[in-house]
Amino acid sequence: MEAAAASEDCCVKVAVHVRPLIGDEKLQGCKDCVTVIQGKPQVQIGTHSFTFDHVYGSTGSPSSAMFEECIVPLVDGLFQGYNATVLAYGQTGSGKTYTMGTGFKDGCQTGVIPQVMNALFSKIENLKHQIEFQLHVSFIEILKEEVRDLLDPTSLNKSDAATTNTAKVNVPGKPPIQIRESSNGVITLAGSTEVSVSTLKEMAACLEQGSLSRATGSTNMNNQSSRSHAIFTITLEQMRKLNPAVSGDGGPNDIMNEEYLCAKLHLVDLAGSERAKRTGSDGMRFKEGVHINKGLLALGNVISALGDEKKRKEGVHVPYRDSKLTRLLQDSLGGNSRTVMIACISPADINAEETLNTLKYANRAR
Ligand code: ADP
Ligand code: MG
Repeated sequence: MEAAAASEDCCVKVAVHVRPLIGDEKLQGCKDCVTVIQGKPQVQIGTHSFTFDHVYGSTGSPSSAMFEECIVPLVDGLFQGYNATVLAYGQTGSGKTYTMGTGFKDGCQTGVIPQVMNALFSKIENLKHQIEFQLHVSFIEILKEEVRDLLDPTSLNKSDAATTNTAKVNVPGKPPIQIRESSNGVITLAGSTEVSVSTLKEMAACLEQGSLSRATGSTNMNNQSSRSHAIFTITLEQMRKLNPAVSGDGGPNDIMNEEYLCAKLHLVDLAGSERAKRTGSDGMRFKEGVHINKGLLALGNVISALGDEKKRKEGVHVPYRDSKLTRLLQDSLGGNSRTVMIACISPADINAEETLNTLKYANRAR
């Protein structure tokens, strides 16, 4: 709490999550080349040393500590009406999906999203006598600068049929999903599914459905490689219930009692940050790589503009419009909103070059 208060004025927090060596890396005889400095949020690789807001090593119980320190303040903020964004950044295989919990197979319990859902519903349970809540969920992915609805019920029916290869072809006549900005700066997605949920089970079902439908493709680096940004968004609406004992006198209490708040939390599993050339891909795949870099590049520029207090005070232009990703997150990055970037890294020496790139990218956000 002390630390959070001390750096309250900085709207972007950066945490590093070092996953353990995985089976495949051990089989290849990889060595651990990342050192987490004991008692300090500091990480070393080769001769390079970086300090972040938090560093979670591969030992201990990082997922619960990370949740308490980085994510709980965002969930609390949601109840006070503050938008927030959690971003998992890193090369393919570094643990983004595991960390966020957007994988269907693993991370289902320990990932950020399942933990957010638990925290959210237990808070609601405690407050529901005074406040009326409404929750909505959407789950989309951005691939090649196009928005795809992961909760689209029509695409689900199509893949259920399983007799054709056309499950992912857009339904003719269905307009593409559009990112819109209202006059008061609120960003909405026109044309994507928003599911109204009232229980933890219903919300978990949305996460599951979308995770399953998420596009994956194979590259030389990892056959589960994902070149899309997956964005799970929870919108929380609150209406403070009228208290008959104090209402009706027209005084300030009346306004308090009718308070309406709406805030959203974006939970983002970003595309792999590795360079297109390293995947050894060409043709279509290369094109996708170029587009993904566009989103990550724009995000890096936005976050570094936000993190630079001097620039912020001078009112420097924040380049939100440079990609679909930053456009969509515009009202939840900067301003009054809270952002946590979790830089995911592999400790293996074969990944040292990409790990260094990830740490440098994350370092720009500070
Ligand atoms: P990414 O989404 O960045 O491509 P994944 O989340 O799919 O990476 O992780 C790659 C592999 O590493 C998976 O097999 C996953 O189970 C494993 N893994 C990732 N993070 C951890 C962790 N903290 N502990 C154990 N295994 C992990
Ligand atoms: Mg992934």
